Amino acid sequence: MAGILDGKVALITGAGSGIGRATAKIFAREGARLVLADIVAEAAQETLNAVKQAGAEGLYLKADVSRWTDVEGLVAKAVATFGRLDCAFNNAGIEGEPALTHKCSEENWHRVLAINLTGVWFCMKAEIAQMLKQGGGGAIVNTSSVAGIAGAPGGPAYCASKHGVAGLTRTACLEYGKHGIRINAVCPGPIRTPMLGRIMGFTKGTTEEQFARSEPLRRLGEPEEIGEAVAWLCSDRASYVTGLPMPVDGGFFAQ
Ligand code: NAP
Repeated sequence: MAGILDGKVALITGAGSGIGRATAKIFAREGARLVLADIVAEAAQETLNAVKQAGAEGLYLKADVSRWTDVEGLVAKAVATFGRLDCAFNNAGIEGEPALTHKCSEENWHRVLAINLTGVWFCMKAEIAQMLKQGGGGAIVNTSSVAGIAGAPGGPAYCASKHGVAGLTRTACLEYGKHGIRINAVCPGPIRTPMLGRIMGFTKGTTEEQFARSEPLRRLGEPEEIGEAVAWLCSDRASYVTGLPMPVDGGFFAQ
């Protein structure tokens, strides 16, 4: 049976770890041709090796999403290799240093915003330009967070960046809907990835059980559970879905 992303050319940033890596494997299973980017080339290469073993076509690239020239190069390479770009998952992000708002350093603020917000904007800027040029629409999913909907004490820069991603997503949805380009965001709850491991380490003494207690499903999410949602949003099965910051949060926002 054909996959829901059969033949589509998809770009994934932050593809070397956690949610990005799990999503790359799901996209491969669903038939996508992949352009995998990460700031650590070896990490993206490892993901590529895994998807190639599963029979997918793809390439990896080192790219820092906070650098416009890197992002422009990524989209150019995708088009030079596969002739077009159909979908993108703008997922690379960092958690930054934990600090209350009045103690957050300028350096931390600018670094988090540069990667999590400017990085997503750079990606959208290059991807949308290509999608408009080639015609036929497209689908973009950005990674926001539950911290893109609610406050996140101890993470002012992270929270501001993820709210920014939700706003950018809505704005671009309104701007490019008439061209058939759908733009959504996923807002993950706590997902078992290296990033969450670092966050739990920051919150000294907090156990996984304590983290999971605030979730109606009483467990952490797995990165594949985000990847499945992203694959659906990028596929034609979600053809009337755009402008959503979509929580994938174990029911957190039902409370
Ligand atoms: P992760 O395991 O740390 O993966 C993030 C990947 O992005 C890493 O490979 C990282 O490389 C890469 N990266 C960092 N800065 C980059 C840059 N400037 N350019 C390109 N790649 C860069 O984290 P994750 O949990 O999968 O997070 C993925 C996304 O989900 C992030 O946007 C995060 O904010 C969001 N999110 C995560 C959770 C969660 O609970 N895990 C919840 C809500 C939202 P390095 O490892 O070298 O830094």
